[in-house]
Amino acid sequence: MSVSKSRVLHRSLRETPPRAIGGEGVWLIGEGGRRILDASGGAAVSCLGHQHPRVLEAMSRQASKLAYAHTSFFSSEPAEALADKLVGHEPGGLGYAYLVSGGSEAIEAAIKLARQYFIEIGQPQRQRFIARRQSYHGNTLGALAAGGNAWRREPYAPLLSSAFSHVTPAFAYHEKQDSESDVDFVGRLAAELEAEFQRLGPENVVAFIAEPVVGATAGCVPAPEGYFRAVREICGRHGALVILDEVMCGMGRTGTRHAWEQEGIAPDIQAIAKGLGGGYQPIGAMLASARIVDVIRDGSGAFLHGHTYMAHPLACAAALEVQRVIDDEQLLDRVKTLGGQLERRLTERFGNHRHVGDIRGRGLFQAIELVADRATRAPFDPALKLNQRIKAIAFEGGLGCYPAGGCMDGRSGDHVLLAPPYIATSDDIDMIVDRLGHAVDSALNSVGH
Ligand code: PLP
Repeated sequence: MSVSKSRVLHRSLRETPPRAIGGEGVWLIGEGGRRILDASGGAAVSCLGHQHPRVLEAMSRQASKLAYAHTSFFSSEPAEALADKLVGHEPGGLGYAYLVSGGSEAIEAAIKLARQYFIEIGQPQRQRFIARRQSYHGNTLGALAAGGNAWRREPYAPLLSSAFSHVTPAFAYHEKQDSESDVDFVGRLAAELEAEFQRLGPENVVAFIAEPVVGATAGCVPAPEGYFRAVREICGRHGALVILDEVMCGMGRTGTRHAWEQEGIAPDIQAIAKGLGGGYQPIGAMLASARIVDVIRDGSGAFLHGHTYMAHPLACAAALEVQRVIDDEQLLDRVKTLGGQLERRLTERFGNHRHVGDIRGRGLFQAIELVADRATRAPFDPALKLNQRIKAIAFEGGLGCYPAGGCMDGRSGDHVLLAPPYIATSDDIDMIVDRLGHAVDSALNSVGH
């Protein structure tokens, strides 16, 4: 890390990160030509890798025609085409796309649309949301209130709305008892959700909000079979909506366009971002059920929300091309195949590792969890900052990965999240696991393990 003075207010105020000066497929290039294999696409963003020629060309074409027009005056061709691409076929009943600039904005829109829907249908008493612990929905205050990441919430707790309460996540490695079957575990979580509805008064609940595969807060945690169907049933019975946050796990990352396709349910409202634009432009979207939007259209007629840069033409053109490339190059199939390889290679390398307790994920969204003791699943002392050591050593060795942890309600500890670009090769996957293996072992050595 360089210590030169920077006027950019970076996350760390003491260290300025090195500069990226180029990109090439799965590689990021730093000053001096240093090449970093981008094994996590930043934070599960760069699904097509870097400098994809088709996306650059689409952006340049759009920029030469129109970079920006405010949505209170105009729609635009790329915005209309992107919305058609995303919801023209009404996947799971989702019929409208509200195009924003990122994941947190998509979640804020989801929260507000859900609330407004109930006002419009004469149920204004519905003001409560149920979310889950060990989740992340974004850093703006509404999204942060929805999230259950104790460490991120803590400093801002007095500012966070009490409209959100949190139940146990479907995190089998830490929450499922050894004696419990998956069916029993799902049954217990469903009973807890039902009890939370009863505590709040079922007629007061707007929505349940969850990530289908939990991302950065817990490290690629899918729910056990049947969990989301149970959630759907409970919410349906009480007239509440289901909001799914696919900001990280969506847009093909798990091998299907939407992660919910693997759960046998569809949401009423969904948030997407990261893989939508693949990092080529800042863009996110809230996808909303036609049923909900039609009620508002036929009621007050307007969604009471908005941002200056929504449906930005250049961002929409970039995202549209990213999604077309995913289809044209059949990348969802590739995610399934490469995801299988990644999971196998992680299992070969870490399956018997004495400090790797769990290997989990779906598609090209896989994580390993590090534990001090495999038998008790006890995490390492957060003071060791093991995940940060892994990140630094991996980076030195030419690997960009996304370790996190030590901040999750004291139960789960450090994990390393991998989310390689969909265009990676089989050799890239092998290289990722080899480099990660070296970084994990070196980091453990450095703390005496
Ligand atoms: N939701 C999830 C599941 C995320 O992983 C993130 C970001 O990491 C967000 C929401 C917030 O997205 P953004 O950082 O684009 O605001």
